[in-house]
Amino acid sequence: MTTGTLSSSKPKPINIPEVVQKARDTYNSGTTKPLEWRKRQLKSLMRMYEENRGAMIDALVKDLRRSKTEAVLLEVDYLVNDLTNLLNNFEEWAKPEKPPKGFVNMLDDVVIFNDPYGVVLIIGAWNYPLQLLLLPFAGAIAAGNVVILKPSELAVASAKFIAETLPKYLDNDAFIVVEGGPEETTELLKQKFDYIFYTGGTNVGRIVYSAATKNLTPVTLELGGKSPVYIDNTADMEVTAKRVLWGKFINAGQTCIAPDYVLCTKEVQDKFVEYSKKILKEWYGEDPQKSPDLCRIINSRHFGRLQTLLDASKDKVALGGRYDAQERFIAPTILTNVTPNEKIMEDEIFGPILPIVPVENAYEAIKFINEREHPLVLYLFSRQSNIHTLFTEQTRSGSVCVNDTIMFYGGKETWYRYIQP
Ligand code: NAD
Repeated sequence: MTTGTLSSSKPKPINIPEVVQKARDTYNSGTTKPLEWRKRQLKSLMRMYEENRGAMIDALVKDLRRSKTEAVLLEVDYLVNDLTNLLNNFEEWAKPEKPPKGFVNMLDDVVIFNDPYGVVLIIGAWNYPLQLLLLPFAGAIAAGNVVILKPSELAVASAKFIAETLPKYLDNDAFIVVEGGPEETTELLKQKFDYIFYTGGTNVGRIVYSAATKNLTPVTLELGGKSPVYIDNTADMEVTAKRVLWGKFINAGQTCIAPDYVLCTKEVQDKFVEYSKKILKEWYGEDPQKSPDLCRIINSRHFGRLQTLLDASKDKVALGGRYDAQERFIAPTILTNVTPNEKIMEDEIFGPILPIVPVENAYEAIKFINEREHPLVLYLFSRQSNIHTLFTEQTRSGSVCVNDTIMFYGGKETWYRYIQP
């Protein structure tokens, strides 16, 4: 079987239609269906994680200058925990189900079989380059699918790690890594798949969706957006600042569910900045560029995009604001008194810059949120339960998280988590 290449520079050309056809032949042979086979593959994947912890952390350091804590917490252990959960439960989930019967079926046997989709394509993004690819991959194995994985070419070391390591542990006919960028992905998308799982930006999401419609292929699109935070004057400001800043500045803000901007009154804004000064100094020291805990921006294109945003809002910098193009470093930055029409409020920021837009009250914040695209997450910091109800009833978003930020994503019930500070 032809697999993706191991080179860190340019992947060796591969015949994509042939790779996909071979994947389909493997699926049709029935290899991936037996639960015992799936379990062996999942256990091998676990062995890969266990035996390559150091190599995974090294790849994340090379791609994003991740600190060890962030690499372990947000990718390595996250993958291990998810896989443990899968191994403990997938046989139960795969069992045929007996649904409730209506009057006409009362005397019949009615069974739902949980069949695999078939040949699945998983396209990963660069910001969590291991987790975003390997987590859906484990689920696809557990469900009995053949999988083609396309790591993001922008996270070079992680893509190389996956292309080199995976074939050493898993079945090479059923699980195939194809390296490359837009050209290879375009070629992949011309083929027929039975499911496509894509993580990345909205523009490419549209391309993926439109390619999938040709074969009526079901898709999951894990996209981005601007996730707002609303803070009122009843929130514990020190705890709030810590939770918002942590959610924003891990991975240097390059997180799909990072708080994108804050809505609050001017009084709350002042308190938030006061606490943030203390907290950021405590976390990253006097010179954050020297801190081992701050990631770097993935590449110079994304750095340039963030630099332009920062330059356009120079007069609004309350904290941070410094950058160094050579290192692709941007200091954790807070902008205050930002107005809705500024450039920074147009698209998802995806970097360590946190604008605060002053509003008079919760109603104005709700209006502001509802005038824009539905956010991926809405973060709410308040001790008032009527405010929680107001926002959950009057706004629409992928998730609402009250009094915390992205920790909610680690939970089993990820759509709503309530923590009183
Ligand atoms: P990216 O540049 O790595 O692109 C994603 C994938 O699309 C890559 O595998 C890439 O090779 C492929 N691609 C790029 N251009 C293409 C083209 N023209 N045709 C076909 N394929 C192409 O990542 P990105 O898009 O910069 O990712 C960042 C975005 O992902 C952010 O918006 C972020 O919010 C979102 N994201 C969402 C989630 C989620 O779970 N919802 C998680 C992480 C990231």
